[in-house]
Amino acid sequence: MKLRFDGVAFDLDHTLLVDNRLERVALLDLIVRIDAAASPLRLSLDRAGIVADEELSRYRDEAIDLETMLRRFVERCGGRGGELWVPWFRQRSLDLVSRMVLPMPAAGRALAALADAHLRIAALSNGPSPLQERKAAQIGFYYPVLASEQIGMRKPDPAAFELLAATMGLEPQRIAYVGDDPYLDIAGALEAGFAAVWFDGGSKPYPAEIPPPTATIRSLDELPSLLVDPGV
Ligand SMILES: [Mg+2]
Repeated sequence: MKLRFDGVAFDLDHTLLVDNRLERVALLDLIVRIDAAASPLRLSLDRAGIVADEELSRYRDEAIDLETMLRRFVERCGGRGGELWVPWFRQRSLDLVSRMVLPMPAAGRALAALADAHLRIAALSNGPSPLQERKAAQIGFYYPVLASEQIGMRKPDPAAFELLAATMGLEPQRIAYVGDDPYLDIAGALEAGFAAVWFDGGSKPYPAEIPPPTATIRSLDELPSLLVDPGV
């Protein structure tokens, strides 16, 4: 069998899996706990949820560290000392994985077909470690996972993709990277020399101002026929 690619690498969140915002749940758990333990807080959980969403998106998109995110979150909820809860928050997030993480439809089928075709498989994800690795394992993804917190680089930095290629033992040109985020996944992978497959979730059109993906899919079931040459 002749392959068009020798490897396929994945984004995790909203590409291979959803975590149903488990870190948001962990933050609200934290507020309930602080409120009960020491200093009653003066806001509703609905309001705390809005603050959690804002601080989590800063944590993800602006790369503030976990300590800073927890300090800011607890302060905005009327408490203090949020930074002291880092170990608790990490453990609580890990504990929520088995209940909250779900595979995207067809993820298992697509991964099995790609493995059967002898493609090397890995993941590159912006996010905490070991949380991202645990989420991947929860859906049966036992291939290498590079999490940004662990490698010290974030998508769309081409250096993160270069490390991914080195980890897979392949030239970037021989790898297809699959992800849902045009800016982080597609632009980053293309700049590093990968082919880039956009997983179009149907919510937004592909932005006109960045290079187009090599290919677009709407289901992971489309991947094997796209990446594996059916010819002998
Ligand atoms: Mg994603």
